[in-house]
Amino acid sequence: MSLFDLTGRVALVTGGNGGIGLGMARGMAEAGAAIAIAGRNQPKSEAAAAELAKLGVKTAVVSGDVTDEAQCRKLVEETVARLGRLDILVNNAGTNIRKPAHELALAEWKEVLDTNLTSAFVCSQAAYPAMQQAGGGKIVNIGSMLSIFGAGFAPAYGASKGGVVQLTKALASGWAKDNIQVNAVLPGWIDTALTRAARDQVKGLNALVLMRTPVGRWGVPGDLAGVAVFLASRASDFITGASIPVDGGYSVQV
Ligand code: NDP
Repeated sequence: MSLFDLTGRVALVTGGNGGIGLGMARGMAEAGAAIAIAGRNQPKSEAAAAELAKLGVKTAVVSGDVTDEAQCRKLVEETVARLGRLDILVNNAGTNIRKPAHELALAEWKEVLDTNLTSAFVCSQAAYPAMQQAGGGKIVNIGSMLSIFGAGFAPAYGASKGGVVQLTKALASGWAKDNIQVNAVLPGWIDTALTRAARDQVKGLNALVLMRTPVGRWGVPGDLAGVAVFLASRASDFITGASIPVDGGYSVQV
């Protein structure tokens, strides 16, 4: 059996109905995993699940808002009920509100923190019993370049993504005894709905990204497929608590 084979495994991907989440889900489906797509937009989730089903894997749409604790727990319960188990959780759902700190309302701060950071904690906590009973599991959290750099236009986003890295280390340390590996992926600038909005809102962003990214292009969601398969498979069994940049070199060049 290949180190990267995910046949028989079940993955739940929050925000799996588009962008980076769908890119990762597609990679894991190609490696044989059944996929539960979680999002709020039901038609978008149905379309993503239908696309993945064409790869010959089982899929399920499990709708919910990850800022709501009960709905996070329901996402996990429904995944287990419909696909039989839960081996892989990708905490990918995310949002951004781009404003300088002096203009950001507390409600906006909370919305970003709840979506990007607290949801990863709650969904991971909800997934823990199923993974523990199964004898192990894989959790992949999605950070950002703003897990390591600061940006004046994104204080809440940066705080949430910095927190994702520390949450990853804490869960990895605590759950290693249960054979659950917890790692983070730090994407560079990837062309998605989220960053298309950023290009409109942040003057000069496109030129900056192209100049600062050594490979000289924006990433695409498919660029995240390989790392998802790696971190979801037994190929990464001795890696836990790590944060892996997938950024075309953005984080290594001054
Ligand atoms: P998209 O906007 O394409 O995807 C965001 C996803 O999150 C959507 O599927 C959306 O589902 C889901 N989502 C948002 N809020 C909620 C919520 N409250 N409850 C449930 N689902 C929610 O953006 P990306 O693919 O770019 O972003 C995915 C992740 O990658 C995010 O965590 C983002 O911070 C991170 N990231 C992105 C980078 C980039 O350059 N694009 C760089 C670094 C990190 P729905 O539409 O159904 O609400």
